[in-house]
Amino acid sequence: MVNEKSNFRGLSEDEALKRQKRFGLNVLEEKKRISPFAILIQQYNDFIIWVLIGATIISFIMGEKADAITILIIVIMNSVLGFIQEYKTERSLEALKEMAAPTAKVMRKDSVVVIKAECLVPGDVVIIESGDRVPADCIIEESAGILMDESLLTGESENVEKNADKNNNSLFMGTIVLNGKAIAKVVAIGMATEMGKIAKMLNSIKREKSPLKEKLDSLGKILVLICLIICFVVTIMGVLRGNDKYEMFLLGVSLAVAAIPEGLSAIVTVALALGVSRMLKRNALVRKLPAVETLGCTSIICSDKTGTLTQNKMKVLKIYLNGRVIDVNKEKVNSELLRKTFVLCNDCIISSKSKNFEESIKGDATDKALLSVFFNNERDYKEYIKDKIKIYEIPFDSNRKRVSVVIKEKLGNTAYIKGAPEIIIKRCNYIYENGECRLLTTEDKKRILKVVEGMTREALRCIGAAYKRNIKNNDKTIEDNLVFIGIAAMKDPPREEVKEAVFKCRRAGIKPVMITGDHKNTAFAIAREIGIADEKSGVLTGTEIDDLSDNELLEKCKKTTVYSRVTPNHKLRIVRCYKKLNNVVAMTGDGVNDAPAVKEADIGIAMGISGTDVTKEASSMILLDDNFATIVAAVEEGRIIYNNIRKFIRYLLSCNLGEVLTMFLASLINIQTPLLPIQILFINLATDGLPAIALGLDSGDKAIMEQKPLSRNESIFARGLKEKIFIRGSLIGICTVLAFLAGKYYGMDLETCRTLTLGTLILSQLIHVFECRSEKCSIFEMKFYTNLYLVGAVCISITMLILIIYLPYLGRVFHTVPLDLGQWLIIIFFSSIISFVNSLVLLFRK
Ligand code: ADP
Ligand code: MG
Repeated sequence: MVNEKSNFRGLSEDEALKRQKRFGLNVLEEKKRISPFAILIQQYNDFIIWVLIGATIISFIMGEKADAITILIIVIMNSVLGFIQEYKTERSLEALKEMAAPTAKVMRKDSVVVIKAECLVPGDVVIIESGDRVPADCIIEESAGILMDESLLTGESENVEKNADKNNNSLFMGTIVLNGKAIAKVVAIGMATEMGKIAKMLNSIKREKSPLKEKLDSLGKILVLICLIICFVVTIMGVLRGNDKYEMFLLGVSLAVAAIPEGLSAIVTVALALGVSRMLKRNALVRKLPAVETLGCTSIICSDKTGTLTQNKMKVLKIYLNGRVIDVNKEKVNSELLRKTFVLCNDCIISSKSKNFEESIKGDATDKALLSVFFNNERDYKEYIKDKIKIYEIPFDSNRKRVSVVIKEKLGNTAYIKGAPEIIIKRCNYIYENGECRLLTTEDKKRILKVVEGMTREALRCIGAAYKRNIKNNDKTIEDNLVFIGIAAMKDPPREEVKEAVFKCRRAGIKPVMITGDHKNTAFAIAREIGIADEKSGVLTGTEIDDLSDNELLEKCKKTTVYSRVTPNHKLRIVRCYKKLNNVVAMTGDGVNDAPAVKEADIGIAMGISGTDVTKEASSMILLDDNFATIVAAVEEGRIIYNNIRKFIRYLLSCNLGEVLTMFLASLINIQTPLLPIQILFINLATDGLPAIALGLDSGDKAIMEQKPLSRNESIFARGLKEKIFIRGSLIGICTVLAFLAGKYYGMDLETCRTLTLGTLILSQLIHVFECRSEKCSIFEMKFYTNLYLVGAVCISITMLILIIYLPYLGRVFHTVPLDLGQWLIIIFFSSIISFVNSLVLLFRK
């Protein structure tokens, strides 16, 4: 048979390597990386930082040399911290981009391998299928029904047919294969391609702005304004009270630097990026950062059946032939017609590498199963297909649900067709039974459909077979007026982990929905087995959907969990309905026709193994293992990330509020400034950096998949976060001022009082950071070992505090004094009292 195997030999690996050296990589212009230097510069892209630097320079000139240098060091350390965060984020996002890079199916020697598209060289033989983006400029050697979308290159929206004819055989890099398949030879790569000439960047992962980040950015602006006003007031009141003008100015600026949560939106990016790499470990490759946020809110997951909910390891169990059902395990299938249909009308390729024959069959699972019914070794198979010549083919697509080939035979060309049984039967007028071909009666049809009913009820996937003789050249009706042969029924068991994943969804308030091209009964049987459907929830078929108006479908959608015999167009309607019902919809897809539905969904999910380029490009996430359970894992990660963002927003804002209020209250009640500029900057360094990042690394608690999904529009401050921040911020401010006053009360000098204030403010934040890990648990119930980063970060901060208090040199720089035990007790009392009381309240409530 003419197929990829027998006719074409690809380049050898050596030759390919040689050519790669000569022609280079198949890429369009170098991707511009953001340089580390640019990231470093960005850290200083902030007005208030420059005001601080300016103020420091003035203080240097005026002789406060130690102060000025320290301030500069702190500023630099802060920016280094920011730099490391951003640099790592940038790199991990780039690594993701790399992973999502396009691939190509290429013949190397005589096996088909999948390589990165950038490794293609001129002369390579590539296999191109519907849904692919053409990886380089090629010439078609052999093709079946190729339909191209070349709009990207030509700007024309009309689709073009291509074939192996001399003047119509060019495929251009970057254009999309809408239908059909082809074997083609690469003639130009990289910048030498037509696309390269236009030098348009293609297919890059978009760095879309996260909506949450945008919201935080605008919130940040408001906070900046408020901070600036307060700092201004503090400065003015200080001056009015007769303090040094310049000193007060520096204080105001330092306070502004410390209080403005400039890191907020940067940490959101870091948290999202960290989450993305955690998702990758669980086999979900996120293509668009904002998808991570949306994932957590998912309320409906629409999933394909075959391969996603099931194992995609199919095995034919029964065959209906000559009026009776054969058990394939017990009886040999004796029908040359059936063999021809299932073996010749088949897309599989044998890759000789594997010893085991079944493992060496590569291709669609359905086709694999059908092939293995008739052959169990490579030699027999090759012998069989040797002299069969395929002259025409209409490939499978999920709208048609059937495949046809025309084979050259002595008696005249014959078409063999296989596909969904109902669709095959509809096109048959004859039946071949027990050695004779006769008219297919209505009774026959009923009888056959009844057999299909029975098989599908046992969760078996059914494929019908038919043929038609005497096909003339250019015959457009090869799929009409067929002769029915038989039906194969195969099992495709559910994936083991899916049942638990479905259960997890349910508990998490997420509705799992199955959308499949398969038969109603098969779909329902499997859906029931894995818990997606029960007796009450009906199945909606594609034909039924066609008869429903949009509003009627909307009503039906509320209850239905299984959709069968659907086409990609139905998928689109279903997504729209669920969205209208105010759901956040995740939707899977693999074929090129699924791309619109995948794009329309809130979270479009493409299959990593079986998915096509076009669907992957339309998606926001790719499942590397095609597994439903991975979607649920990704949703869980999404929720964890969202929660972590809430955690550090709570931490950062309440602590910064505490810092500002300390200074503000002090100036209200007319006492000396409780903290010096340099001390404020130190507090900022010790508390805002590492602990906040570590909070973003927090693992989620189990309860996270036991809550209802968030609504799409819920503010990040919802569910009491605003109040928590406000109350805690105020209390931290009050307690810190009280610590200062306590020092005064016991008659300590100003420097000691300030050291007390410094200690209290830092320690209360470092205690609070643990509280921020949970919105429900008290600090007594917290398992500290579950976030060792945080423990580490807090230890570093405490060490820093101890160093500046006890190292004489640092003490001079930061104007601190060594404390005795009694003074430490004051600090500990005022910094832990709020957390202690709060935790008691939480405990008692339980
Ligand atoms: P799903 O992926 O949801 O199971 P498909 O679109 O792959 O749905 O298949 C729909 C129907 O098309 C199947 O039930 C089967 O009858 C038929 N079909 C699937 N794959 C093939 C194939 N390779 N050849 C012929 N018919 C097929
Ligand atoms: Mg499929």
